[in-house]
Parts: sequence; structure tokens; C-alpha cells
Amino acid sequence: KKILRLILGDQLNSNHSWFSEIDKNATYLIMEMMQEAEYTNHHIQKVVGFFLAMRNFAESIERQGHKVIYFSLDDQDNSQKLEENILKLIDRHGFDRFEYQLPDEYRLDQLLLELTKKLESKKSFSVRVVDTEHFLTERGFLKDFFKGKKTYLMETFYRSMRSKHDVLMDGKEPLTGKWNYDHENRNKLKDPLLLVKPKTFSKDVNTVVNMIRSKGVKTIGEIDEKNFDWPISREESMEALKYFCEKLLFRFGEYQDAMYDGDSFLFHSRLSFAMNVKMISPLEVVEYVEKYWLRHQDAIDVAQVEGFIRQIIGWREYMRGVYWAEMPGFAKLNFFDHKRKLPQFFWTGKTKMNCLKHAIEGSLKSAYAHHIQRLMVTGNFMLLAGIDPDEVDQWYLGIYIDAIEWVEITNTRGMSQFADGGIVGTKPYVSSANYIDKMSNYCESCFYKKNQKIGDRACPFNSLYWHFYARNEEKLSKNPRIGMAYRTLAKMKDAEAILKQAEDYLNQIEKL
Ligand code: FAD
Ligand code: SF4
Repeated sequence: KKILRLILGDQLNSNHSWFSEIDKNATYLIMEMMQEAEYTNHHIQKVVGFFLAMRNFAESIERQGHKVIYFSLDDQDNSQKLEENILKLIDRHGFDRFEYQLPDEYRLDQLLLELTKKLESKKSFSVRVVDTEHFLTERGFLKDFFKGKKTYLMETFYRSMRSKHDVLMDGKEPLTGKWNYDHENRNKLKDPLLLVKPKTFSKDVNTVVNMIRSKGVKTIGEIDEKNFDWPISREESMEALKYFCEKLLFRFGEYQDAMYDGDSFLFHSRLSFAMNVKMISPLEVVEYVEKYWLRHQDAIDVAQVEGFIRQIIGWREYMRGVYWAEMPGFAKLNFFDHKRKLPQFFWTGKTKMNCLKHAIEGSLKSAYAHHIQRLMVTGNFMLLAGIDPDEVDQWYLGIYIDAIEWVEITNTRGMSQFADGGIVGTKPYVSSANYIDKMSNYCESCFYKKNQKIGDRACPFNSLYWHFYARNEEKLSKNPRIGMAYRTLAKMKDAEAILKQAEDYLNQIEKL
């Protein structure tokens, strides 16, 4: 049998069992395509990161002796579409079996199922689907795990993952006596001298940028073509992980929620891209971090480590489960019926709101923002302002180097916008200036006044926060976790003026 094996751009798992031996009958297919470069307006660093990681991967398996067909974007033979390329190759080379790994994206899953139908109707042609061997759970695991339950409780899932994979465990109990150290991990960064340089790779990526531009791919954001800093091979991903353990882990949890206008990365690992394209696996990252901590317990306390591990075997794995439990319906959910267009300043950073300016400018510059910037600054504003979740999704899906739909949409529509009405979270993540000021130094130099709700310079978050609750009273007031907000609103003497202020801000949203 002559086998054609497809490897998608986010399936660069060199530890996959496909590669454990050289199969002389198998040819691996990796393709750069306009179809993938243009399904949304991606950040230029995202397109470059994907293409370079794919090229490195193709070279590395070829070096091991595997047969590879690689289409670059400017390849004459490249029809730029997945199905067309595959059908052409099957005809040309006489393959009689097609194999692929389960895609993580619903869109590609459907496309490959359609293709499978077509191929299986060919005489003596077969199709085989295999797992990506990347995640800790299988696609349908979370749905089965919570069968009969109203909500998917992340913490329950997380604890089961800890037990099942024996991470930070002592038999059936957590190793240090506590499952979760979240409450200890909420500090503001007061001393910038604590900041550590992020890991850099400084690669010259001029050639691939020129190719992308010459093909007319529409992109957003900036790129320093002489200093591309994302890991784009397995070796570099391992270097980034090592650097994280040695330089950043000891403060990770403590400053996990902090924001600082002089630094976009703080103590975060920047490993999401490497993991999402599968250059390294989540279990591998977690085991490496746990082992490092066991050897350095005198210097690193468990709260830092538990906080990190929870993000990966908890949140990341959980979001994937929610995606497969809820798609395709999830992509259309709009619980609050929000319809407003995304203000233009999300594409430029030109706003007087200092927190948003930093989060947006940083994202355009580096294709990155850390979790709290995504959730409590940009996401918070979009939810308070009632932006259409479709517009919200397109922004998040394009701008971040780690944005792939399964993990973007569940975070955006679910965790951040509550457009799912409470599948991911039990209440919307919204806040006034109070929280942003508590966790950052943004308010200190802002045009707006963090303590004012009314007036020309009143912080927009303050009035929009109450506007959000007031306009959604019917949908939210029965939620036991929110009752307090409504009791406060009912007692507020200047409620009317605050709501009027919010209306005025919404009417001139582009000028904020
Ligand atoms: P660290 O802070 O170092 O955390 C370590 C790892 O934990 C991350 O690399 C990531 O793999 C995982 N992780 C942490 N939080 C989450 C989470 N909520 N969901 C899933 N994994 C998590 N993450 C993406 O990978 N792709 C996205 O498109 C994406 N979109 C987001 C959109 C919004 C609105 C929000 C609120 C969060 C989003 N996240 C997304 C989750 C999280 O913000 C990023 O994973 C993280 O900022 C990546 O940076 P890091 O690698 O330095 O993370
Ligand atoms: Fe953001 Fe308001 Fe603080 Fe300005 S005052 S940085 S707009 S929270």
C-alpha cells in the first residue's frame, strides 16, 4: 500500500508514533496554504511562526529518513486548498491510502470528513484517522466526565487530571496538602527591578516575510524581521521551557495576574504557541516543571508551580473538552445579544484609556498579551461595551500567535464574554477601574480618573460596569453569585447619572 499521511500546521508532534519507525510506504504531506493563511486576518508573526515551525518540522523528519512532500506558499504546484492539493497528489503518485491525525479545529474536521467520504467512494482506497497523541484526554472525555451535570466545573476536572497523571500527588492526596493556591497568587508588581528579560531567539525571518507579502496575504500587526523571538522548533521550545523554569517560575504564580506598562511578558512562559502547534506536549511541560521544582524546593514555593500546572492540565485541557462538547453551536452563542461593532482603536491602540492602549499596542507589537490583559482589560471592555461576540472572536483569533479556534473561542466567547450563558464560567468576568488599578500601574498615568464615575475624565470602565449590570438585569439578577451587585445598584443615589454617562461614552465609543 502507498500511504499519504497529512500533517496539519498545528500537528508538529515529533513524538507521534507515526515517526517511531521509517515506513517506506508512507509519504508525509505538509502544506502552507492561502486557505489557512487567510481564514481570518492573522498577525504577521503568527503566519511566520506557523510556516517556520512547519518547515523545521519537515526538515527534521526528512533528516530522520521519512519521505516528505512540502508545499511552500509560493510553490507552483500549490493549489492553496487542502482538498485540491490532496486529490491531485493521490492521482499523481497513485496513493491507495490516506491517513490523517484528528484535527483540533471543527472547520478542518468537517473538511476532512467530507474528503474522507469522497475518497472512500474510490475503488480499493482506504482512509484511516489516528489521534494526535498530544492531549491528556480524548476529544469526548470531558462531555462523558460531566454527563448529567449542569455545568462543567473546571476544578473537579483539574483534580481528576492531577490524580490520573500523578502530578503533584502523594498517592490520592495532593503532595503539599492543598489542591489549589489561587488565593496566594494575586499580587501587584510594585518593584520593576524584579522583572526578568524574556527568552529571545533573534532570528532573521526576512525571506519568509517577503514571500508572505509577495503572495498578498492580508495580515495585521508588526514584526521585527531581524529579531523573531518565538520558538519555532522542538529544540527551541525545550530551551524556552528550561529558561522559564530557571528564571521565571519562582515568581510565576505570585505575579500571574499582575500587569505592568513597561513589560508585556512578566513571569509568563510564552509556551502557548509551542504547545498549540504540538512541538512540545502539555504533559511533558508539566512533568518537566514538577521535576525542576522537586530539585529546587528551597528556592521555589509550591504556589508558583501549582498555579502554572493548573493552567495547563486544568484550563487548557478543559477548554479543549468544552470545545468538542459544545461545537458547532458554541460558535454562534450570544447570550446578551450584543451587536455593537468593535471600535477602530482595537486595530491601532489609539485610545486615551491607558490600560487598553498598552494591551492593544503590546498585542500588535508582539502577537501576545498575557491572560489577565486578555481577560480583564480587552475582554472586560468588550463585554461591558456590548461588542458583538463574532467581532470579538475575529479579533482574538487573528491577533495572537497562539490563537487556534479550539482554545481561542472557548476563552473568548466562553470565559471572557459569557456569550455561552455560563458553560465555562459561573458569572461574567467584569470589573470597574478598581480591579485594573489593583493589579497594574496603568491608572497612574491615564488620561481618565480611576476614582470618578461621572464627568469628562471619569474612567469609562466605572460607568460601563453599572450599565452592563443594569441592561442585563433580567438575565443576571437571579444568579446567586451576582445578587450583591444588584443590591448595590438599587441603593446607588447617582445611578441615573452613571448610566447616562455610560450611554454618552457608548455613543462616542470611537473617541474614548
Ligand atoms: P502562561 O501564563 O505561562 O501559562 C502557561 C500555559 O497555560 C499557557 O501557555 C497555556 O497553554 C495555558 N493556559 C493558561 N490559561 C489558559 C486558558 N485560559 N485556556 C487555555 N490554556 C491556558 N490561549 C491560547 O493558547 N490561545 C488563544 O487563542 C487564547 N485566547 C484567549 C482569549 C481570551 C479572551 C483569554 C482570556 C485567554 C485566552 N487564552 C488563549 C489563554 C491564555 O491567555 C494564554 O494561553 C496565555 O496568555 C498564553 O501565554 P503563556 O504561554 O505565556 O501562558
Ligand atoms: Fe484603564 Fe480607567 Fe485605569 Fe485609565 S483609569 S488605565 S481607563 S482602568
